[in-house]
Amino acid sequence: MVELGFLFSLYPAALVFPCRVNCSFYFKIGACRHGDRCSRLHNKPTFSQTIALLNIYRNPQNSSQSADGLRCAVSDVEMQEHYDEFFEEVFTEMEEKYGEVEEMNVCDNLGDHLVGNVYVKFRREEDAEKAVIDLNNRWFNGQPIHAELSPVTDFREACCRQYEMGECTRGGFCNFMHLKPISRELRRELYGRRRKKHRSRSRSRERRSRSRDRGRGGGGGGGGGGRERDRRRSRDRERSGRF
Ligand SMILES: [Zn+2]
Ligand SMILES: [Zn+2]
Repeated sequence: MVELGFLFSLYPAALVFPCRVNCSFYFKIGACRHGDRCSRLHNKPTFSQTIALLNIYRNPQNSSQSADGLRCAVSDVEMQEHYDEFFEEVFTEMEEKYGEVEEMNVCDNLGDHLVGNVYVKFRREEDAEKAVIDLNNRWFNGQPIHAELSPVTDFREACCRQYEMGECTRGGFCNFMHLKPISRELRRELYGRRRKKHRSRSRSRERRSRSRDRGRGGGGGGGGGGRERDRRRSRDRERSGRF
């Protein structure tokens, strides 16, 4: 029989023990409940289009349960508005600072390794790399940001299909992503705007900066833009303190 010590002297450990398999949770979801103690391999990517901002979204409904634990002090409408504002703020910041965002997703899970995780998939890997380096030196809502490159590229593989059908029995502690949907209007605004930008870059940039000026100045602009304007204004106000 060959001695193990002799084998190690010839080959690296990875060749002697090739059976340490990749953790499929880390590979698909970018997070595993065992963290660094996982017996399987968490193969951290050195290049990726996707970054993960860990535990950054705080759902106000989770922190404001009333004493009986049943009634929630924050209504669904308020929660959705708060969420849309958060989503728009982060999405816009990513595009303005680092580069075009292909897709952004936020986890509504409750387990420690997934709660409040935000995944931003950039169009270019270089932008993702730049974002991770910069974001790890920044703060959000009074907390230091923890950002890392994520192996997730296909969110359909990462997310929980039962949750999307409204029937996940594991609830918030499910180990697949429960992706919190943004409102239809915001989806149209963020992703639609980008599609237009592709078609005519200069025109849409002009329109965007004009609408922002109007938001700051507070004047003018009728015809259904009121809600939109208010939201922008509150975002501008908030931004100074949050990021
Ligand atoms: Zn694992
Ligand atoms: Zn689930």
